[in-house]
Amino acid sequence: MSIDFLNREHGLHIAGGWQPSDGGGRLDVINPATGAVISTIADASPADVDRAVAAARAAFERNDWASLLPNARGQLLWRIAEAIEAHAEEFARLECLDNGKPLLAARRGDVPGAADTFRYFAGWCTKITGQTMQVSRPGQTFAYTMREPLGVVAAIVPWNFPLLMAAWKLAPALAAGCTVVLKPAEDTSLTALRLAEVMADCGLPAGVVNVVTGRGATVGATLTRHPDVNKVAFTGSTLVGKEIIGAAAGNLKKLTLELGGKSPTLILPDADLAKAIPAAAMGIFHNAGQVCAAGSRLYVHEKVFDQVAEGIIQRARALRSGPGEVPTTDLGPLVSQRHRERVHGYVESGQREGAQLLTGGARGQGEGFFYEPTILTGTTSGMSIVREEIFGPVLVAERFGDLDEAVERANDSDFGLSATVWTTNLGLAHGLARRLEAGTIRVNTGGGTDPNQPFGGTKQSGWGREFGEEGLLEYMQTKSVLMTL
Ligand code: NDP
Repeated sequence: MSIDFLNREHGLHIAGGWQPSDGGGRLDVINPATGAVISTIADASPADVDRAVAAARAAFERNDWASLLPNARGQLLWRIAEAIEAHAEEFARLECLDNGKPLLAARRGDVPGAADTFRYFAGWCTKITGQTMQVSRPGQTFAYTMREPLGVVAAIVPWNFPLLMAAWKLAPALAAGCTVVLKPAEDTSLTALRLAEVMADCGLPAGVVNVVTGRGATVGATLTRHPDVNKVAFTGSTLVGKEIIGAAAGNLKKLTLELGGKSPTLILPDADLAKAIPAAAMGIFHNAGQVCAAGSRLYVHEKVFDQVAEGIIQRARALRSGPGEVPTTDLGPLVSQRHRERVHGYVESGQREGAQLLTGGARGQGEGFFYEPTILTGTTSGMSIVREEIFGPVLVAERFGDLDEAVERANDSDFGLSATVWTTNLGLAHGLARRLEAGTIRVNTGGGTDPNQPFGGTKQSGWGREFGEEGLLEYMQTKSVLMTL
């Protein structure tokens, strides 16, 4: 598979064009399916970050983006959606090589999802409103609010859905009238770089979106401390999310934090198992489990536990593991060697603590960073495999007899991103939707998000919401105007 973009000497996309990194450092881009170096990216320095933030600030102050007529701003975002679609195959192939995911998954999920996100937020540009309000002041007064963009946004995204996560941050920020410095994950920066170029070709004014590649500890940390950044929009680990809270304190940046999860799936005895079993399997094995809302804890009623466990084991064993570009591949490698060791470490520690392996539990064959789809049972709520986000194809499956006890176990987590329920009893489902502690509750459906439905976490799964009007308003501030007539 040859893609010309891979052979380029990638720079940083600052102020509308490519610029070399200050220090000249490079980072290897590795294909996780083979371990081979397929390209390099710039390892940016704090001085590079300063230049990118200055470009974003200048673009914001120039006011040619935020003051662009809403209709024209919307048209440009729509054009970006169309341009992503026009380059869909290139984006999908880059994502497959860089992240390892199956090409089909990138074609069907990541790339159209990114285009849809831009298209959705294109529509919001013409729908931003304030309010008028009655106020308790003597005399004739007129009081209203207006919405203003926050300013310069640092968007820091992870490696599991690189293009999609970039779109999730860029589209609402741009719809709101903000300018952006985007820092992709160092393991998967290629589609963000290509997107910067595609957006510039669409006519996005110089400096409105800047992309700076490099390390989290350098580029990410400099951005989150930067006095000229007004907001950080972050998706990643809870650990780094907490660091960002500290770093942002200097100038009280606004934050949205989409952090980890350890999402429970509850299968009740009346569930439609023909649907629940494949959905629970995909809920953990899709994208090799590298999904923030992955259904990584499974609680199944004892009457159907054996049938459900057996069904998921069969599906796990049937998954064809391989390089993403091979058409029959269901399961790609994990993103990096380091990450695979982390996942395997969890599986080993679980077994040491007494969990029993039902299937998987080993590194895959070959040079790539493959890992077998794994299911463990016999766990207790104190084990790290039950409490911590593993971010791999690793499921812990337990039986329950009493529904209240199942809810208690499902809620016994520091995280609260998502929870799934399978039952044909609608009344019970509504009740569980209230009782389960998570930002998103799914009933009788697998994963997936919709740009019109807010997504985000409770507890240590984060702050704020992406998508919908709430997601847009995370990039805006309210100004109140009070007038005596
Ligand atoms: P991180 O949270 O470290 O990385 C996410 C992003 O933050 C990357 O762009 C990273 O850059 C950047 N970053 C890293 N350190 C800092 C910092 N100090 N300040 C600002 N930005 C920073 O996730 P990891 O890649 O280390 O993955 C570790 C675990 O985190 C996973 O196993 C998983 O459990 C969880 N995770 C959760 C995600 C989610 O969707 N909720 C997504 C990714 C990971 P760089 O890539 O250069 O390090």
